[in-house]
Amino acid sequence: MATTTPEIVLPPLALKAAGDSESQRDVNLAKVLRSPGFPTLVLLLADTVGKWADRVILDFTAQHVGVRQQVDGIWVDLPPMDRPTGDFMLATLKQLCNLDFREREVRQEATFSGQLDPFKYKFHVRCQPVSTGERVQIRVELPRPQPAQLVEMGMRDKAFERVKQMLKRGQGLLVSAALPGDGASMSWKGLRAAGDRFTADFVTFEQRGCIEDDVINVGSVQYDSEEEFEDGFRVMLLKEPDTVFFSQVRSPKIMRLIVEKGLTSKRLMVVQIDARSAMEAVFRLQVLGMTSDEIQQHLIGVVAHKTLRRLCVKCREAFEPDANLLSKLGIQPGRVRQFYKQFDPAAYTTMDNKGNPIPPPTCPTCGGTGFFARVGLFEVLENDATLKSILQSRKKLSEAQQTWRAAGNPTFREEGLAMLALGLTSVEELQRVLKS
Ligand SMILES: [Zn+2]
Repeated sequence: MATTTPEIVLPPLALKAAGDSESQRDVNLAKVLRSPGFPTLVLLLADTVGKWADRVILDFTAQHVGVRQQVDGIWVDLPPMDRPTGDFMLATLKQLCNLDFREREVRQEATFSGQLDPFKYKFHVRCQPVSTGERVQIRVELPRPQPAQLVEMGMRDKAFERVKQMLKRGQGLLVSAALPGDGASMSWKGLRAAGDRFTADFVTFEQRGCIEDDVINVGSVQYDSEEEFEDGFRVMLLKEPDTVFFSQVRSPKIMRLIVEKGLTSKRLMVVQIDARSAMEAVFRLQVLGMTSDEIQQHLIGVVAHKTLRRLCVKCREAFEPDANLLSKLGIQPGRVRQFYKQFDPAAYTTMDNKGNPIPPPTCPTCGGTGFFARVGLFEVLENDATLKSILQSRKKLSEAQQTWRAAGNPTFREEGLAMLALGLTSVEELQRVLKS
């Protein structure tokens, strides 16, 4: 093919087009390969999988196209594209997906696959018109195992033992707490996997539109409104499941139904709520309308969760923490000999004889992000004498947290310091997560 632009060496990403038949897939791919948007698309996709990013969002506005990638839960902005470049790339992407590339007014979804040795990838594309233009999401199924069990996610054996016992109680209220976007679905999946092993049968209740698109739930009931929830819940209780999981409960009316209809049915109700810590989740239950007596009577416990990015073991760098840092972290001098930090390419960048920077080679494991996958921090709170005294004394959240910690319960902070001492994460990453 004759070309007037200088040759760009494209990464060897082999794409497979979507289509209803073999010949249609071939035609689509042939069109993609000679389309002007092809190089931009390949560069973006190869960059995405190289960094182990699992989501890309393209925001088409009148002026330009905003590009963001999500790597291990963190959104990173890429330089925006001009509209013609973005439009050509999107037309190519839609062709690859066997979608109508002229259509920009209705939502379209499709899937295609690709291979960049040694890995194979599946890409899920969703194009949606928005008021500013169009929003395109590419979700990547990364070829690395997703932790399914709480222990694989980083929960320590002792804490997992307590969670198992709580699930085995078979009746009462168990709370899964996390902030949306901070691994909320990760711990939720873990708890459900644990529930799957320890309870005979369970049903999940999920608000439509809040469902994680990569989770296919067996026995899931979906609802749009409180009324729909009430009807679905009544029908479901007649079937007498052992355990009911409720994702993201944010309505006092729904919480009231769970307390009055669910908890009195002597079954296990597992409720996912937004909270920064296990103790905050208890306070949140009160905001959702549970009285302190109801909490004492029904609550089994809370499993709260935050996620830390895990340092890439191939490129992380060890350093000796000085006394100042240790005292800031509340660690006694001499207790920890070394911490690890994220690889800093700037420290290894040299100059050629013309003064141009020569960056160090990109780490093949993490794609230069310095992190690889995630690890969970957990707080496990049980409804015990300490909680009882906290609820009865009507303490403020900060005081309640202090009392709980003083009773020997490890908090996110202590769990995080243990991760730091193990070299699993960096000081900056731990501070970022603890602040959130
Ligand atoms: Zn690395």
